[in-house]
Amino acid sequence: MKKVKLSRQEDAEEKELHDHLIVLHRLREQGKDANRRSRRSRLTAEERDAILRKTGGKCHICGGDISGRWHADHVLAHSAGGMHAADNYLPAHVTCNNYRWDYLPEEFELILKLGVWARSEVEKGSDVGMAIAKKFSQKELKRQARRKNTAIDGI
Ligand SMILES: [Zn+2]
Repeated sequence: MKKVKLSRQEDAEEKELHDHLIVLHRLREQGKDANRRSRRSRLTAEERDAILRKTGGKCHICGGDISGRWHADHVLAHSAGGMHAADNYLPAHVTCNNYRWDYLPEEFELILKLGVWARSEVEKGSDVGMAIAKKFSQKELKRQARRKNTAIDGI
């Protein structure tokens, strides 16, 4: 009977995480307009070079090397009094920056934790890890195909 109890508790915890993610999503949707980055004036090539040099050409979010397109990420948001000055920016990969800005800080932290856990499950080759690997690979292939089509349409 102990097993049944344990599985009920696990069910409750799953439901709790599920519900919590939904609550966070709703909060994010409510705050979207208020939190949306305001349009900012363009940085000059010299300012962008100076920003990239600050981190030695690394993304300030993930620490990876930056090559190709990158975003100048506001260290202090406009809403928190951030001024438009090269001092207020750090370089970030487009993907890192977009993912971070699309989510509330608490959601982003959960995404990182879930991602780290999923990554280790994939590496272990566990059932859940292999299921994640399969679904994720399919999703990435679809996303890449969409991007290629968009690039062709854009020419
Ligand atoms: Zn990055």
